[in-house]
Amino acid sequence: MKRLALIIIGGITLVAVIAVARTLMLLPARAPIAMQEISAPPEVRDRYAQNLAAAIRFKTISTGDGAAPDHAAFAGFHAFLQDTYPAAHVAMNREVVADYSLIYRWPGSDATKKPIAFTAHMDVVPVPAFGLADWQHDPFAGIIDDDGVIWGRGAMDDKGMLIALMETIEKLAQQGFVPNRDVYLMFGHDEEIGGGGASAMAALLKARGIQFSWLIDEGSAMVEGAVPGVESTVALISLGEKGSVTLKLSAEDEGGHSSAPKRFTAASLAARAGYLVTDNPYPLVLDENLERFLMSVAPEMDFGARVAIANLWATRPLLRDQLAENPTLAAFMHTTTAFTMMQSGTKSNILPQYGEAIVNYRIHPRDTVAGVIERARRIIDDPRVVVEQLGGRDATSMSSTDSEGYTMIAGTIKDVFGPIPTAPTLTVQATDGRFYYGVSDDVYRFTPFVFRPGDLKRIHGTNEAMHRDDLVRQVAFFEALISKAASVQ
Ligand SMILES: [Zn+2]
Repeated sequence: MKRLALIIIGGITLVAVIAVARTLMLLPARAPIAMQEISAPPEVRDRYAQNLAAAIRFKTISTGDGAAPDHAAFAGFHAFLQDTYPAAHVAMNREVVADYSLIYRWPGSDATKKPIAFTAHMDVVPVPAFGLADWQHDPFAGIIDDDGVIWGRGAMDDKGMLIALMETIEKLAQQGFVPNRDVYLMFGHDEEIGGGGASAMAALLKARGIQFSWLIDEGSAMVEGAVPGVESTVALISLGEKGSVTLKLSAEDEGGHSSAPKRFTAASLAARAGYLVTDNPYPLVLDENLERFLMSVAPEMDFGARVAIANLWATRPLLRDQLAENPTLAAFMHTTTAFTMMQSGTKSNILPQYGEAIVNYRIHPRDTVAGVIERARRIIDDPRVVVEQLGGRDATSMSSTDSEGYTMIAGTIKDVFGPIPTAPTLTVQATDGRFYYGVSDDVYRFTPFVFRPGDLKRIHGTNEAMHRDDLVRQVAFFEALISKAASVQ
């Protein structure tokens, strides 16, 4: 008995010592790390702003209703790029693919080195008529306000990145920089409606036997205020993106008069199926990427949070559930299940003959489309309900954090913005990046502009805008990255 007590006390003491020791590794609490300011002459940052504003005025809209791209808008945008970036167009070869997408190749001096690539898209989502009144400025007027904010559809998604890339190449080309490896730019024209352009460009590059060492697309950025208590800007480099699938759960019934119902109707069978899959969500996993994120921001957090993060071996389930209370963080931890549509019935006193529930899943890289369908059938476990797949694609694989690309990107972030926390992440939306896995060892998603709370809903939403300082940051980052990556010996 005494021996058992000693063992228990010893065990508790050991656990306490480990917990304190691990926490001390994150001590002392550090002050927030200020991001290094990047300055640019007023005429330069104004030129960046004016060029983004001009780009916004081309209505390169992907409507999503099956209409062909607006030929005049895309032709105008192509000509605008040629007129605005003459040195870049002398330095690079330009090729039009799938009618409107653009591949630029900047030939390097050493053909034996693997090329690198940057991709962005020219198209934007429409502005719905019902939201128009809430815009502070006309979304296609390309307004720059007195604070240096460029307003309009595409400012963030994704013309800001595209303009920053062109400004960078223009600047480097003017300086006489010659890369030692091929540098490619791929600009898709229909990212918002399936990415046929990116798919065609990837196929063409693959047919030519081109293999990139690494590639960067949109899909992640630097965030501010994402974690309560953390004031530093955190740079998140995305390693992959989620897949998606929509399931139609339908039921049929003979129907009849509502005065003599059976226990179930086609409506309730479909509704029950939708409810069951939603009520049995995929398990949450606090994986190594989220763990690296937490470790990188922990030094700024209060003592309690540091104890929890330093001792994930004991606190993981608790911390996971706490983080999952935020739906955005929960989305990083599992395949999400959203019961989004429901259709059944024609009249209040008629038993419906048909009912359907529509459920949209966003698939984590650890799951698959096939697995989602199999799991839904198992959970519903009802032969009266038909489970049908509508479209769908698996998640991408996750790119390496030990590669040349990741090392270069993370290193350049530190060089340009200072020692701010940097961590890998996962993109929960779709990007053109997913098409390039066949031609690139590693595909990353990172744009160096700063996302502040509330910014996420501007993308595809109302009042999309970018500050000219964010353009200056992007150009500084891409310039440093290309200079380093394309001139290493
Ligand atoms: Zn985009």
